[in-house]
Amino acid sequence: MEQVKVVLQDREIPKKWYNIMADLPTPMKPPLHPGTGQPVTPDDLSAIFPMNIIEHEASNKRWIKIPEEVLQKYLLWRPSPLYRAYNFEKLLNCPVKIYYKNEGVSPAGSHKPNAAVPMAYYNKVAGTKRITTETGAGQWGSALAMATQMFGLECRVYMVKISYEQKPYRRLMMNTWGAECIPSPSTLTQSGRDFLAKHPNSPGSLGIAISEAIEDAVTSKVKTHYALGSVLNHVLIYQSIIGLEAEKQMQKLGIYPDVVLGCCGGGSNFAGIAAPFVRDKIHGKNVKIVGAEPSSCPTMTKGPFAYDFGDLAQKTPLLPMYTLGHDYVPAPIHAGGLRYHGMAPIVSHLVREKLVEPRAYDQLKTFDAGVKWARSEGFIPAPETNHVLAAVVDEAMRAKKEGKEKTILFNWSGHGIIDLTAYDAFFAGKLKAYELPGHEIDRALRAIKNFPKP
Ligand SMILES: *Cc1c(COP(=O)(O)O)cnc(C)c1O
Repeated sequence: MEQVKVVLQDREIPKKWYNIMADLPTPMKPPLHPGTGQPVTPDDLSAIFPMNIIEHEASNKRWIKIPEEVLQKYLLWRPSPLYRAYNFEKLLNCPVKIYYKNEGVSPAGSHKPNAAVPMAYYNKVAGTKRITTETGAGQWGSALAMATQMFGLECRVYMVKISYEQKPYRRLMMNTWGAECIPSPSTLTQSGRDFLAKHPNSPGSLGIAISEAIEDAVTSKVKTHYALGSVLNHVLIYQSIIGLEAEKQMQKLGIYPDVVLGCCGGGSNFAGIAAPFVRDKIHGKNVKIVGAEPSSCPTMTKGPFAYDFGDLAQKTPLLPMYTLGHDYVPAPIHAGGLRYHGMAPIVSHLVREKLVEPRAYDQLKTFDAGVKWARSEGFIPAPETNHVLAAVVDEAMRAKKEGKEKTILFNWSGHGIIDLTAYDAFFAGKLKAYELPGHEIDRALRAIKNFPKP
């Protein structure tokens, strides 16, 4: 019998998160206050986040202790299993061994609860009563709905309208976990009303939903904070649990990956699996690290590296990142979780330092890989996860061409059981292979023209 998975015991769960900031070979540019053009201070952020989370956002400490209360919730589904994908390997018939972390085993079905649980916990400790957030496909909203319920907080989620309409089951998950879910753009906020006046039929975007959630948090009469599900340093730190477990599990097998891959929306699950391996690469280890994004929203592969806002209404600090412009409304592809105009500053920095290779795949390639996966490995992947699968297929083919044996590790970020309408559209031949048109880059550059240059 061949060993299919490595399962760690509860007591083997990592007790600290890892912060790649401590090991970067060159310093990152700081986020800027848009008014003053100066680096943001903890005080600037205190209107939207509690201080304990702001400390992590600004931290250069290598290891951050995971609170006991958070570990206790993590243990409901963590440590997540590391699998060997024997059947997918056979199907591809390439000289590769493929290992993956299954983050679909969480109650919400993705890696998102890894960050939602500590955020709800730290808010609870800081005296927050209510949390607002945005969600694309609904995965972050459902994860935060679950986490806020665990710690007795209220939660309101602004959900990108096209996903709200395409994915009623995600909204129902949020409702089941006790959260309110509002289609965005909405009439509940000034940002939403202004946007609707100009674009009454907009499918919405993460950029406008973030503006609404921040405005709600800042203007609410109840003590409310905002939570962001990706992009920021603290989110990437919390997701490092994925890579730290994977590292332990691979050590148990006595192996080390040649290639580590993840799909990239805002960059959190990718940074999560990649962090310990990027650290090794910085210290001289020969490992390739690949981030896969959609060709319809090719932030890292086509966007400029620039200071830009994280949201449409320009309420966030200016972040140094690859961006398609804060006013970009991505094509309505089915991988809602990857429809974001920017990329985490940390991931952007790693791309600039050539520690990470970005690649873009269109949704016909990604769904083709996802269906092959489901038919060989059983688990049905989320449309977002299909992007990393397309990159894994690509890596396997490269190994065959080069005639080299390779060990691949990737993050299987979530299951697609609630996204089957996307598969339906694929089977019916209704999906298009969107590429970003060239004039969109000009538009992106116009949107950031007058901002400071990193
Ligand atoms: C949200 C999501 C993503 C993309 O978000 P990141 O912050 O880039 O990780 C990828 N896969 C799934 C299943 C998601 O829910």
